[in-house]
Amino acid sequence: MLQRTRNEKGKTILVAGGAGFVGSHLCDALLARGDRVICVDSYITGSKDNVRPLRNHPRFRLIEKDICDLAEVDETLDQIYNLACAASPPQYQADPVHTMMTCVAGTGNLLSLAERHAASFLQASTSEVYGDPIEHPQREDYRGNVSCIGPRACYDEGKRAAETLCFDMLRTGKVDARVARIFNTYGPRMQPNDGRIISNLLVQAIQGRPLTIYGTGKQTRSFCFVSDLVAGLIALMDVDPNPEAPVNLGNPGEFTINELAEMVLAMVPTASKAVRKPLPQDDPQRRRPDISRAKELLKWEPKVPLSEGLRHTADWFTAALGDGKALRRRSRVRRPISSSEISVGA
Ligand code: UDP
Repeated sequence: MLQRTRNEKGKTILVAGGAGFVGSHLCDALLARGDRVICVDSYITGSKDNVRPLRNHPRFRLIEKDICDLAEVDETLDQIYNLACAASPPQYQADPVHTMMTCVAGTGNLLSLAERHAASFLQASTSEVYGDPIEHPQREDYRGNVSCIGPRACYDEGKRAAETLCFDMLRTGKVDARVARIFNTYGPRMQPNDGRIISNLLVQAIQGRPLTIYGTGKQTRSFCFVSDLVAGLIALMDVDPNPEAPVNLGNPGEFTINELAEMVLAMVPTASKAVRKPLPQDDPQRRRPDISRAKELLKWEPKVPLSEGLRHTADWFTAALGDGKALRRRSRVRRPISSSEISVGA
């Protein structure tokens, strides 16, 4: 029997992946607004440290569960955000079958939950749906250039299939589903060992190790600070009417990896130097969001320039790396669940 524990002011919101980097910042923002937050996380890539300060919050509840196994929750939900998926290339490739199943079976479970609760649903999709893009910058109507058999496919194709599920549920009138295509995001609480460019370069510079540049370093990315992204996610979930189309969320400032490495070297006192490493297979060469749709429909655009966000993130990593015990806890990524262990819930 579902219990409606609607609080006076706020909504009851499930955040899947709420102990992750972006998810935990989203939980913070929703609690600050007055909502009740149910965080669901498997801790495969999320960290208990990220939500430890919220444990005793009267409007916060934590459920340790993989979304592939989540059948029901015992409170009526107003909104569901799905941020549950490994998101950095080394992590989502560690157990590619589980990544694909998280995107498809896990998203399917959450959409069924949203349908039963008549809850609005926001899917965290990705710029990876554009693959190695031929059109630049990427607008939402660009259909992408994705390999369906390469090492990135488990994530790229998984997220594309998840979008299909969302729009099918929307078209058939079952779920008020919304889709955010998130471009590279950074900020405090990134895992120091998640393998992404900003965490790698900052941690390497702080520790005086060589800065690893894959390929020529001329490939580009556009980096959005996490507080800007969270504001965009909330705006997309709450906007009326439903845009009924995916919305890019990212910072259009575009930098080469070499430029980023130079910024890090200028910001962090270090003797580190850059070293070249091979470019991973299917690594996108250029990426920049066209955010006209988000500007028009959500009245949203990012506010934090890379120089400022990078400074915050460098300070955070410096403090976290100084606390060796906290760092070891944060770096402990649980063994990904193998495909044979996945049961697809109702
Ligand atoms: N990259 C790099 N050195 C690193 C990590 C990443 O040069 O230590 C490059 C990577 O090849 C890619 C870009 O930085 O071109 C962004 O990589 P990331 O893994 O952060 O995210 P992606 O956008 O590829 O998912």
